[in-house]
Amino acid sequence: MNNRKQPKVYAVHHKNQQIRDASRSGGIFTAISDAILNNDGIVYGCTLDNNFKAVHIRANNTENRNKMRGSKYIQSNLGDTFRNVKNDLVTGKTVLFTGTSCQVAGLRKYLGKDYDNLICLDIVCHGVPSPKIWEEYIKWQEKRKKSKVKSVDFRNKIDYGWRSHIETLVFKNGKKKDSQVFSHLFYKHNILRPSCYECPYKSVMHPGDITIADYWGIEKAAPEFDDNKGVSLVLVNNRVGQRIFDSVTDMLKYKQTRIEDSMQPPLEKPFEKPIEREQFWKEFNNYDFEFIAKKYGNESKVSDLKRLIKNLKRKLAEK
Ligand SMILES: Cc1cc2nc3c(=O)[nH]c(=O)nc-3n(C[C@H](O)[C@H](O)[C@H](O)COP(=O)(O)OP(=O)(O)OC[C@H]3O[C@@H](n4cnc5c(N)ncnc54)[C@H](O)[C@@H]3O)c2cc1C
Ligand code: SF4
Repeated sequence: MNNRKQPKVYAVHHKNQQIRDASRSGGIFTAISDAILNNDGIVYGCTLDNNFKAVHIRANNTENRNKMRGSKYIQSNLGDTFRNVKNDLVTGKTVLFTGTSCQVAGLRKYLGKDYDNLICLDIVCHGVPSPKIWEEYIKWQEKRKKSKVKSVDFRNKIDYGWRSHIETLVFKNGKKKDSQVFSHLFYKHNILRPSCYECPYKSVMHPGDITIADYWGIEKAAPEFDDNKGVSLVLVNNRVGQRIFDSVTDMLKYKQTRIEDSMQPPLEKPFEKPIEREQFWKEFNNYDFEFIAKKYGNESKVSDLKRLIKNLKRKLAEK
């Protein structure tokens, strides 16, 4: 499938506010995957398992599909996914595969040919952090709260708004922790996988039929969508993507926009490998996580307080 050099660009959010709230940006993934499930198709995507590890699963119902909602900012384990996708395709099922651009490119390479019953959706991808760091982060938080984690939200949009990046952990003893340690580590880039610094998909051209992202720049591209509740940027890359997008527009509020108003760094070039990366990993392997959180994750009581004040101000401004 030849993808357009200049994709068609849309600002989108789901008409159903509950779906929008449960999704990372505007809920376009739910609209598209609903269309697949309603036609007896299969959806593949990333969820968290019982140990909070990111894994790809297969869903033929909304209950399992809903587990794929929300961004998990760690590398997802594909397991047998490619083999299962192929089995579904050869038995004639319509398949929606969702994942990072390199996962979509990897699937296409594995399959070796185009299938009329395959739709690929990739995400604009900042890079994926190492699952090992996430595992140690969870253990550290559990030790501090003296309880096992019950649930995690990598980016708590409901309490803090779409633009913020604060992770929330709920513990089995009922305690809750809002933190930015993991998100700070993410944005410092030391914890990204080595291949992410040389990612070949950092442009407006992507391997998916359709590509989705947070619509950074919405205040310029379509200000009437900008309510801090989440807007999806949708890049329609070819006629397969256009067909599926056109089939779900009745579920969406949408507007065609310009790529010039929709640019963000991961649509231009990969992030550079930080000079301190080697030092970071040496320290990660030799010190406890408390040291890492303080040195690289801005962990302190002052940062907790600053976050609280900023959020109070945001809530007052929204009233
Ligand atoms: C690692 C990562 C990096 C990202 N970087 C950017 C970025 O630089 N810029 C930007 O605008 N947006 C980024 N996003 C977010 C992306 O924009 C959202 O996934 C998209 O907006 C989804 O919109 P939605 O409202 O339909 O969300 P949802 O319904 O929440 O979308 C869920 C989709 O995300 C997929 N997904 C979730 N976690 C992973 C994972 N770890 N690996 C593979 N697929 C996953 C699911 O399979 C599903 O298809 C990133 C997301 C992830 C997971
Ligand atoms: S940044 Fe590129 S290489 Fe890294 S996970 Fe995302 S798509 Fe793959």
